[in-house]
Amino acid sequence: MKECVQEPSTRADIQSREEIIKKIVKELLEVLGEDPSREGLRETPNRVSRMWVEELAMGYFVDPLTYVKTFEVEEYEGHEGFVAVTNIPTRSICEHHLLPFFGYTHVVYIPSGKVLGFSKFARVIKVLSSKLQIQERLTEQVADFLNEVLNPRGLIVLQEALHTCALIRGVEESMTMTTMALRGVFREQRELTNLALQVINMSKLQLPKFEGF
Ligand SMILES: [Zn+2]
Repeated sequence: MKECVQEPSTRADIQSREEIIKKIVKELLEVLGEDPSREGLRETPNRVSRMWVEELAMGYFVDPLTYVKTFEVEEYEGHEGFVAVTNIPTRSICEHHLLPFFGYTHVVYIPSGKVLGFSKFARVIKVLSSKLQIQERLTEQVADFLNEVLNPRGLIVLQEALHTCALIRGVEESMTMTTMALRGVFREQRELTNLALQVINMSKLQLPKFEGF
């Protein structure tokens, strides 16, 4: 499995990072010609620093294994039936522009004796996506991680996301990126893969479209 996380950080380590980010944000405001002591900006360095450490970049400090609780199941032994978990909210930060991209992750897998608790998919994806990413790599990391903990006979991870770096700057278009990772039998059994993709298509939510602004 590819290395997804560094060692989980201690509280003191996280606090010292928060302090450093606070200083950097204050400097950014000054470089832009702002007055960081004016009322509207006074709490901004605090707020932004906490947002990065506790939310947007939380994945650098938390081990996704913390959230993994698998259950044994025998029902799937020798069968081709699969489990689909769709519309898992996914938010991450593009490493090229430090701007968010967001959308949904859809997972289909054929268990080989183990399933993952329903809500855990969302938690694991939140940890893996809460760092600087490109969508292509995030999809592969989610697939590698689930493949490792579930050891399924087959796995599909499909992600659709809207990238604000394309929307609010650059080409200024509402473009959607779709990435897909296949593991196990889904790499060879085309018919089964098509069936699984149909199941995703039936239940997946559409991403918002923004036009003409
Ligand atoms: Zn970008």
